[in-house]
Amino acid sequence: ILGLTLHAARETQTLKGASQMFDSYRTDLQGYITKTASKYKKMTAKEVKQALTFKHGAFPEGTPKETIVEEQMKFHREVLSKKIDEPKGMKLVHKQDGDTNYELANATLLSLVRNSELDGIVSSIRQLEETWNWRYNYPFTFINDEEFTPEFKKRVEEVCSGKVYYEIIPKSIWEKPANIDPVLYKNGIAKLTENKVNYASLESYHNMCRFNSGWFYRLEGLKKFKYYWRVEPNVDFFCKVDYDVFKFMRDNELTYGFTVSLYDEPLTIETLWKTTVDFCLAHPEYVHPNGAFKWLTENQQNPQNTNGAGGYSTCHFWSNFEIADMDFYRGEAYSKWFDALEAAGGFYYERWGDAPVHSVGVGLFEDKSKVWWFRDIGYHHSPYENSPNSDKCSTDHEPGYFAPPDVYDQNCLPNWIKYSMTPNQLNMY
Ligand code: GDP
Ligand code: MN
Repeated sequence: ILGLTLHAARETQTLKGASQMFDSYRTDLQGYITKTASKYKKMTAKEVKQALTFKHGAFPEGTPKETIVEEQMKFHREVLSKKIDEPKGMKLVHKQDGDTNYELANATLLSLVRNSELDGIVSSIRQLEETWNWRYNYPFTFINDEEFTPEFKKRVEEVCSGKVYYEIIPKSIWEKPANIDPVLYKNGIAKLTENKVNYASLESYHNMCRFNSGWFYRLEGLKKFKYYWRVEPNVDFFCKVDYDVFKFMRDNELTYGFTVSLYDEPLTIETLWKTTVDFCLAHPEYVHPNGAFKWLTENQQNPQNTNGAGGYSTCHFWSNFEIADMDFYRGEAYSKWFDALEAAGGFYYERWGDAPVHSVGVGLFEDKSKVWWFRDIGYHHSPYENSPNSDKCSTDHEPGYFAPPDVYDQNCLPNWIKYSMTPNQLNMY
C-alpha cells in the first residue's frame, strides 16, 4: 500500500490526484481481498448441514416422475443439439503437425484391466488413438492384480502410440483389508444378493471398487503422474479431439472431467452418505463452500434413490470415463475422508463403487467450477452415451442420444447442468 501511495503521488504530483488514484487502488485491493478470503473461507458444521439439505428443486412439488423424466430428457437433447466444436474462452493448446519438441503434460492414460479383456481394451485404445492420442502420444499405464501375459503386452504395444508402463498391484492393496469383519461381510453380501444387486458376491469386484476409489494413485508407478485419463475395455470414442486434453485440465486449473452422469443403485451405498455427513460435520473445514451440494442431494427425479441412500441423490460421474488430477485425491480432505470410508467398511459390507466415491469426494471437497463436462468427447459405454452435435463426430446415433428409453430416468446430467453449471460455463462451447 505504501508503494502504491508513493507511486500515486509520483504519477499525479498533486495531493488530490494522488488520493483519487489511491482510492481506485483501494477498491481493487478490497475486491481482491474479498475474493481471496471467500476462496479460503472455511465452512462451519452448521453451514455444512444447511448446504446438504435440499430445499428448492427445478420442478414444482408433486410433479409426477414421468413428467420430470420427460422434461429432463427434452432439456438434455436441447442442450446437446447445439452445434459445437472446441471449448471457447478457455486456454487451449494445439500441437502443430511436425512439432518434434512438443512437451507433454504430466499425465498418463490409465487402465485397470484383466488379461481376458485384451480384445476389448485394444478396441478402446484404437479408438482413443484415432480420435486423439495419435497426435500427442501420451503414455499408457496398464494396471492389473496379476501379471500381464506376453500376448497382452505385445498387442497393446502395437496400438499404443506412446510409452507403455505396467503396474502390478500388491496384494496388500488389492485384497480385502484386515478390518473387515467376516460375519458382517457375509451378511451384507447375502442382503445384496437377495436384492439381485450386480456383482454383489464377486469379491474381486469389491476389491476393484475400493482400489479405484482410494488406492490407484498411490501405486509406485503412478506417483510420478498428476493427471490420468481412465480407459475401460469395450468403450467407444467417436469424436475427433484436436487440442491437448491434459493441458486443458492443467492450464484451466480443472480437477475432474466427465462425460456421463447417472443415478446409482441405492442398496450398494446405503450408508455411504451417512458416513460422509458424519465426517463432514466433524471436519466442516474440508467442505468447499462452492461444492456441488444440490446435485448431491437432489430428491425429485428419483426420490426412492435419495431416500434409499439416506439423503444422497446417488448422482455420480460415470467413472469408467474420467480425466482427473490425482493430487486432489492425494490431498488432505479426500485422504482423511477416504480413511473414514475404509474404517466404515462399506466397500465390502455394501458395494460402494468408485463412481459415487469419487463423485461425492469431488462434489464436497472441491469447487464445482473445477469440474468439467467434456461435451465434445463422444463416448459410449453400454448402454449410455455422450453424443455431441459436432462435425468431428462419427456415429449412427443422433446428437443428444443418451440410451434406450427404459433407462431415461437414470440420467443425472440435466441436474448437473441445472444445479452445478453457470450459464457462462454452458456457453463455453
Ligand atoms: P462395470 O463397468 O461396472 O460392469 O465393471 P467392469 O467389469 O467394466 O470393471 C470395471 C473396470 O475394472 C474394467 O476396466 C475392468 O477391466 C476392471 N476390472 C474389474 N475387475 C477386475 C479384476 O478382478 N482384475 C483386474 N485387473 N481388473 C478388473
Ligand atoms: Mn465397465
